[in-house]
Amino acid sequence: MSYDDNNIFAKILRGEIPCDEVYRNEYVLAFNDIAPQAPHHILVIPTGKYVSIDDFGRNASAEELQAFYKAIDEIVEEKGLKEKGFRCIANTREHGGQEVPHYHMHILGGQPIGPMVSK
Ligand code: 5GP
Repeated sequence: MSYDDNNIFAKILRGEIPCDEVYRNEYVLAFNDIAPQAPHHILVIPTGKYVSIDDFGRNASAEELQAFYKAIDEIVEEKGLKEKGFRCIANTREHGGQEVPHYHMHILGGQPIGPMVSK
């Protein structure tokens, strides 16, 4: 899958669409989901052009990979999610239910998140 520069998160990265920013550095942007599914629902995205988690894992630099997972650690710490826990979800392509074709990790927390998959 090639990267679509017109996807909504590319527009957020370029500042063409606003977001409720939670975290930002050279490699990572995180912001609140527009339709939260839990008291805390944060989307973490790389600033680089990666379509999916496997694209990111295969093609990102060591610096990008480290920055991404370090950002998740810092966000869950800052939001007070460490003690009770949280869930990270990376929906991927058709069967994973991915809607936006720019890699993103959902962080959900603040209450029990429920079953891992719908039956
Ligand atoms: P996916 O289904 O691709 O894993 O998740 C995409 C997520 O992006 C959804 O949870 C959806 O609510 C969120 N989303 C879609 N458009 C926007 C937007 O313009 N701003 C923000 N903050 N979130 C968005």
